[in-house]
Amino acid sequence: MKRFFYLLSCAFGMYGCASGPVSPVIPADPEIESRIGKILQNLTLEEKVGQMCQLTIGMVTDNSDPADPFISDALLDTVIGHYKVGSIFNIPFEIGQPREVWLEVINKIQQRSLDEVGIPCMYGADQIHGASYTVGATLFPQGINMGAALNDELMRRASEIAAYETRACGIPWNFAPVMDLGRDPRWSRMWESYGEDVYVNSRLAAASVRGFQGENPNRIDRRRVAACIKHFMAYGVPVSGRDRTPSSVTRNSLREKYFQPFLECLRAGALSLMVNSANNDGMPFHADRELLTGWVKEELGWDGVIVTDWNDIYNLCERDHIAASRKDAVRIAINAGIDMAMVPSDWHFCDYLRELVEEGEVSMSRIDDAVRRILRMKMRLGLFENPFPDPADFDRFACEEFAAVALQAAEESQVLLKNDNGLLPLDPSTRILLTGPNANAMRCLNGGWSYSWQGDRCDEFAGAYHTIYEALCRKFDRVTWIPGVEYGSPEENWQTEDVTGIDKAVVAAADADVIVACIGENSYCETPGNLNDLNLSSNQQSLVRALAATGKPLILVLNEGRPRLIREIEPLAQAVVDILLPGNYGGDALANLLVGDANFSGRLPFTYPRWPDALATYDFKPCQQMGPMSGEYNYDAVMDVQWPFGYGLSYTTFAYSNLRAECTEFRDGDMLTFSVDVSNTGNRAGKESVLLWSSDLVASLTPDVIRLRNFEKIELAPDETRTVTLSIPASDLAFVGHDGRWRLEEGDFRIRVGTEELLIHCLETHIYETPNI
Ligand code: BGC
Repeated sequence: MKRFFYLLSCAFGMYGCASGPVSPVIPADPEIESRIGKILQNLTLEEKVGQMCQLTIGMVTDNSDPADPFISDALLDTVIGHYKVGSIFNIPFEIGQPREVWLEVINKIQQRSLDEVGIPCMYGADQIHGASYTVGATLFPQGINMGAALNDELMRRASEIAAYETRACGIPWNFAPVMDLGRDPRWSRMWESYGEDVYVNSRLAAASVRGFQGENPNRIDRRRVAACIKHFMAYGVPVSGRDRTPSSVTRNSLREKYFQPFLECLRAGALSLMVNSANNDGMPFHADRELLTGWVKEELGWDGVIVTDWNDIYNLCERDHIAASRKDAVRIAINAGIDMAMVPSDWHFCDYLRELVEEGEVSMSRIDDAVRRILRMKMRLGLFENPFPDPADFDRFACEEFAAVALQAAEESQVLLKNDNGLLPLDPSTRILLTGPNANAMRCLNGGWSYSWQGDRCDEFAGAYHTIYEALCRKFDRVTWIPGVEYGSPEENWQTEDVTGIDKAVVAAADADVIVACIGENSYCETPGNLNDLNLSSNQQSLVRALAATGKPLILVLNEGRPRLIREIEPLAQAVVDILLPGNYGGDALANLLVGDANFSGRLPFTYPRWPDALATYDFKPCQQMGPMSGEYNYDAVMDVQWPFGYGLSYTTFAYSNLRAECTEFRDGDMLTFSVDVSNTGNRAGKESVLLWSSDLVASLTPDVIRLRNFEKIELAPDETRTVTLSIPASDLAFVGHDGRWRLEEGDFRIRVGTEELLIHCLETHIYETPNI
């Protein structure tokens, strides 16, 4: 009978009732639990709802003299004295600050919290590619580059450094990593994630969580921070392509693809999760009890904190129209499983929630559960013991070793897409005409969330680093810079462009051996990054056409957060490099790569489209690519992309041979182990990402044509051969079936590594009892 109900619940997608006792993803620490119990007993309802409230720093900032804003005692009286608010977030004074200012601001808030409530404040910020709101910190490439670098140890180390430099500012909570699958290049936040693939996002996001938090989520070291995995989930596939608009993803796809990176991060110990601002088929994620409480908390026994995104509880009322009042929106969200509300500018949240408890609309046990989670996170972070960071713990802030890691990440993440006749690398004596709007701007290299939300004030803060122009001048004897097309001033829309002298650039080309055109996008972030046309701007295309007409060899350097379409100008160039958003060391990395001091090893983390109406991801269904059909009508389908996911060239060549499986027949529970020999057959050392793919040849639901299942990045000297062994659990070949359950089906799978392929055979179908495997 019990089994009947289990199946029934599965049929209706109610996975919250996973069979059997759940073993929690983070084991509880008895000492912490007993301390929480004692504190909770003595808290009033006002103090409890205060812990659940998160306000932006602007709410305690006196801006009456815009030239001299300060953290106001009077506002702290209201926010902490009266409302007992437990968390503040965001950049002080709306712009990146030196760590000393961060510390002063947060220490002041902290002292007040301890005096008034006796519970430390948990300050949060978006330090998403290094401590990117801290002046002088080490900025790394954005997530999309880390997806191209495919090096999870590098990801872990970069996050560890970001954590160190973030905690040096007194910030214990980082709103990162971002693991939205960037599967639609129209979306303005694609570059915050690791690209389109489920597995790449899962591996790199989990590596980032480990880098931020360390290995023991119950005892976060005082030089580390709590991760906030975001945005739960399917945020990257809005039907309209525009930020914060609805997705339409089935429960099965959510389970099989979009949930996976979150699952891996929760299993890696992530202490908090932020919710997708938008809705799926009309159901706002902030109101979805099945997903928030069912999938995340109950199924996994996860005892961390779910925080809203910006204003998203009130959006349930004012934007989404599923609540008639702000207060009712609070009821819906808290009952769905939200623990902390990023309100962010309205402390009345506390009044609404207190009243809802008094009226019996929100139970005291739900409040206690949320507050317990928040206190637990504060304890795990050691904030009770160490509320004020000791600057002496952070004497390696922005040291040379950290810079070297950022430079390595920038080098490993730039992707060589075309190199006809070995045009690259260039000799240092090459006379270069450098052109395009991205050639001399730190803003373009960093993208959004860099010193300011939109990244628009980057050049004020990043003067110590090198733009592409400055970096090329350090490596090449003769570089002439003539932009031809320039972006508008920081006050203007990021898409504004001025044509400042295409003719001048064309004239200068006469004295150059090669032309390097740095084209792409200016920085943007979130909704302001919405776009009407995925094609590269017509001004920039005109610049490239005019320069190509000179007959000089042309190198396109694409500097962009998402693939802008270049179908018409790509054939005019002999070489193409996509540097994506490589951060403060991106110019130096490019110069090293162009001159051959470093070798390319990045791989495209997304499918680069050729046509605006033919967007696709690599894991499409077979009917999307077919040869011509015989018979009366032809129903062929063509997958016509500019470059496929995973594509990327090197200055050397690699050959694959001798792919073998330890065992070619398997069933659920087995570990499948494959080995392949990889040789460097060129004359330079190089790094190679060895990718293992699988294809399910026949399944009860149309399978994806191919899926990435494992990778490892290796380095080989010329003529060196290495055997690479990659394993996957058999369950990784399962998919979510029509009934919503994971299934591994009997039959053949093709395994591919490089040019090598083999077939393996699953001996029996296995249907999993649990919602996650
Ligand atoms: C973004 C989040 C971010 C939050 C706090 C929101 O607008 O969607 O990614 O963490 O602001 O700054």
